[in-house]
Amino acid sequence: MPLNLTSLGCASALPTKENFFTAHVLHVRGRSFLLDCGEGTQLRLKQLGISSGSIDRVFITHLHADHVFGLPGLLSSMHLLERKKPFYIHAPAGMEKMISFYFDFLGREDSSFPIVHEPVEGDGVFTVFEGDTVHVQAFPLYHGIPSYGYLFKEVPVRKSCPRSVAYCTDTAPFPELATWVKGVDLLFHEATYLDEDLEAAEKYKHSTARQAAQTALEAGVGTLLLGHFSSRYKDNSAFLEQAREVFPNTELSTEGCVFTVPRNENV
Ligand SMILES: [Zn+2]
Ligand SMILES: [Zn+2]
Repeated sequence: MPLNLTSLGCASALPTKENFFTAHVLHVRGRSFLLDCGEGTQLRLKQLGISSGSIDRVFITHLHADHVFGLPGLLSSMHLLERKKPFYIHAPAGMEKMISFYFDFLGREDSSFPIVHEPVEGDGVFTVFEGDTVHVQAFPLYHGIPSYGYLFKEVPVRKSCPRSVAYCTDTAPFPELATWVKGVDLLFHEATYLDEDLEAAEKYKHSTARQAAQTALEAGVGTLLLGHFSSRYKDNSAFLEQAREVFPNTELSTEGCVFTVPRNENV
């Protein structure tokens, strides 16, 4: 069965005409998991024919606006559609304020469905969810506010070798990261900047495409997928060029693309 990652958005702090804010959907054997929920997420879901009803969980990396401002709209639409099953939000502490604001602002006593905040907090690599198709672990990133990457491991079917996807945004490079995502089949890693803006990357605790590629190389991942591009660049192809100089098996996460996770042949 294919393991797919669909890109809903690849912009960073500001959107462009082409790029929406960061969000992805991971499809694992009939289950869909939302990864981040930037503004416009529900529009992209609609455009790509992915039903919000098929999503039971979102994994939020951190509480910067470009990763969470799609949530109120998505929750409101789910309510209008009379969703009944719970919606789980795995997110760092602080998410409860947004959920509380959502209820205060709408003046609703209740939602048509339970909204459950599962706080994500810890050191090193720790488990946040164990489902029937996937196990999910989290690990801290380096970004100035509490930020977490996620590691999704397929639950094996019979004797098949389980595949894995790591999702790392936003973060500056740090030594432990390559160890934590070692050998994954697909590494999604932010690449907000190009080489010429290394200073900005360091200042705002982001990565350049080359730094993301360096982490992929050290970790021996199968494929590197870059996203979270700064709106300052008119042409995103330079991200690919600079990353491929370090790690040739690199692709760009652009809206609407569906990446079937290939097996890592290096492990
Ligand atoms: Zn961001
Ligand atoms: Zn951020």
